[in-house]
Amino acid sequence: MPDIMLPVRSVPILAQCDVLVCGGGPAGVAAAVAAGRHGASVVLLERWPRVGGMATTALVNIWHRSDREKIVIRGLAQESVDRLGAEGWLSTYGGPEGRHETESFDPEGLTLVWHRMLQEAGVRVICYTVAGEPLLDDDSSIMGVLVETKTGQQAVMARFVIDASGDGDVAAKAGVGFDFGREADDLVQGMTMMYGLCGIDEAARDAMTQAQRESIIADMTKRIEEGELPPSKTANPTWYGNRVIPNMCPVAGNPLDEEELTELTVLGRERVFAFLEYWRKTVPGFENACVEQTGHSLGIRESRRIHGLKTLTAEMVLGAIKQPDAIGHGVWMIDIHDPEGSGYTTWQDRNKTNMVPEGQSYHIPLAMCLNDTVPNLAVAGRCASSTHEGHSSVRVQSHCIVMGQGVGTLAAMALNAGVGLGEVHVRALQEALREDGVYLEDVPGGA
Ligand SMILES: Cc1cc2nc3c(=O)[nH]c(=O)nc-3n(C[C@H](O)[C@H](O)[C@H](O)COP(=O)(O)OP(=O)(O)OC[C@H]3O[C@@H](n4cnc5c(N)ncnc54)[C@H](O)[C@@H]3O)c2cc1C
Repeated sequence: MPDIMLPVRSVPILAQCDVLVCGGGPAGVAAAVAAGRHGASVVLLERWPRVGGMATTALVNIWHRSDREKIVIRGLAQESVDRLGAEGWLSTYGGPEGRHETESFDPEGLTLVWHRMLQEAGVRVICYTVAGEPLLDDDSSIMGVLVETKTGQQAVMARFVIDASGDGDVAAKAGVGFDFGREADDLVQGMTMMYGLCGIDEAARDAMTQAQRESIIADMTKRIEEGELPPSKTANPTWYGNRVIPNMCPVAGNPLDEEELTELTVLGRERVFAFLEYWRKTVPGFENACVEQTGHSLGIRESRRIHGLKTLTAEMVLGAIKQPDAIGHGVWMIDIHDPEGSGYTTWQDRNKTNMVPEGQSYHIPLAMCLNDTVPNLAVAGRCASSTHEGHSSVRVQSHCIVMGQGVGTLAAMALNAGVGLGEVHVRALQEALREDGVYLEDVPGGA
């Protein structure tokens, strides 16, 4: 079908600000709070009714902050953890042996905590609003974005724009190049429909004998292999209790295709209920189990990876490589969920070569968030510049918070100094981040 031509028309300005953050996931919240605290006027646009992104809306509620010896991701992540803990929204989570889970939280609690932090930082949060077409100047600077509202199309204008949409929507539409998927076939990591359960009789579940447990797991594994149950690699019901959120029910496809995403979301929910039905019939204590909640959105791990001035690779991750322009540390392993949707993850190999060596961490460089196409636009979060493999580590939420805090602080410093994003002295940025509680050690050539 041919394109249609749109008439030229004027558009009212909804908001004007110093820093516009597009997307309110872990990266966007951190960017907005950091910029607001450093004196910038900030608008945060979020398409869903709450902030938190995958952490709240897709029920992905686990953070990894330790190098398996000490906590090395602090700053706004630490502050969020402290506030969650003080209000009873947090539990520690050991995870399988040899891994380094640190905290799991209630997504409702994180929603409250992050909206409060944004409010306290003076950020103007506008939910239910998709950041649309970027408005570009003749010199390729971005002046703002168009948004569709109930009263018609409007514009949000800004000095600096941070694309924290997870998918890199604004950067891609502004002409910054990107990669999508793994090199061999362009497929991105599998997605997952997360869900919470209730109504489980935990005493009955715990009274099961080892033999009973093993027989259930063996039966379920066989049914998954034979296609009687949906694909999953971690379908052990005895791990799950009331209000625990299983990471199961994978699906595969293109998260940038709305129609496909709709079908996959429906499929993911069907699979949740297929497991529930089986568990009710099979597992002691699960007879009256219910789905308390499914993710409002399918959990999306990977889509566009926007080209940056530096690209994070698996070698940088696994080599615990330090960077002169570090804005924080990363600890997570190369963790690729099968792009074909089996539910298989590379960490299930228990293959230590997938992991950053114990007690070590890599640096997250600022340059993976900057680009050479639109000078006053930065990206933060899972859309930042990385290879498919490097992304599988740096995509985790604590790492996205590091990026958000880094570029949010950078934008406010650039504003205060009247310079561009690339002109802020990186040592001054690192000093400001340390003062704000960010753990930043072993910077090559640094103080
Ligand atoms: C099933 C699953 C399990 C995972 N497990 C873990 C785990 O155990 N630990 C961990 O730390 N991480 C985990 N992750 C990864 C992690 O949750 C994400 O990579 C992380 O949330 C990315 O943060 P982000 O801020 O970059 O993007 P997102 O969390 O995706 O947030 C992007 C936000 O931007 C909004 N948005 C998008 N486009 C627009 C637009 N055009 N305009 C306005 N708003 C927009 C979205 O609505 C969303 O709120 C998992 C992910 C999934 C899907």
